[in-house]
Amino acid sequence: MAPRFFVGGADAVLAAESDFPLPEPVVRHAQVLRLAPGDAITLFDGRGGSHAATLVELGKRHALARIGAHDAAEAEPPFRVTLAQGLAGGDKMDWLIEKAVELGVAAIQPLQASRSVVRLSGERAQKRQSHWQALVQAACEQCGRNRLPAVAEVTNLDTWLARVAQSGNGGTRLLLSPRAAQALPALVAERREALLADGVTLLIGPEGGLAPEEEQAALQAGFTGVSLGPRILRTETAGLACLATLNALLGGF
Ligand code: SAH
Repeated sequence: MAPRFFVGGADAVLAAESDFPLPEPVVRHAQVLRLAPGDAITLFDGRGGSHAATLVELGKRHALARIGAHDAAEAEPPFRVTLAQGLAGGDKMDWLIEKAVELGVAAIQPLQASRSVVRLSGERAQKRQSHWQALVQAACEQCGRNRLPAVAEVTNLDTWLARVAQSGNGGTRLLLSPRAAQALPALVAERREALLADGVTLLIGPEGGLAPEEEQAALQAGFTGVSLGPRILRTETAGLACLATLNALLGGF
């Protein structure tokens, strides 16, 4: 597979048979990969599909690509998952965001929960959000997705629950809890059509789980509890296990 680069932004217009100056981060990335003029690359702009291209010039700060044919093929799964993830510590968020993108997540909502060990707000929260968005981009370049899942700004769990309950967006709302009576596969069997048509929002607690009053608030906001079995999974395992299960049962693999 030719190396893939995202060239986003309103001014990035990929037109077949035109020469396209590559943005500086892509120039640097092409140098790191030791690409040379004549090499085949793939460019995508997030508006759908991708373009075959050929590197025609590669300088220190400047590179030019000759744009070839548009390929409309997409690598999206046939369902839309929003991962609402209680903020986890260390590099767990980085790790799980990358893997969730590979497994087809459509959007990521980081949530400040009462038991989150990390506290993010203001400028630090914004910096993390851009850092995560950059990881999403790199994961899409690597895994072949042409649509970039958006990482939303870090939001308080309560605020977010109120917003979701009011908007009704996000499709079927699932609260992942080891104590829930219904297992995820059984729920998927029951609600298959709705999941495929309107998508699903997965709420996962941070390392220490959600507080009982937070679980209660989620249920009141229209979430249904589902379990992934009797073993307690680490927070970064839970979302990925859900995504893999949904892919297997709803035709994403
Ligand atoms: N002690 C916590 C466990 C936290 S694990 C508790 O009892 O809730 C972190 C998060 O991963 C949980 O909040 C839940 O969303 C998810 N999770 C872990 N194991 C799970 C399981 N077996 N089924 C469903 N969700 C699980």
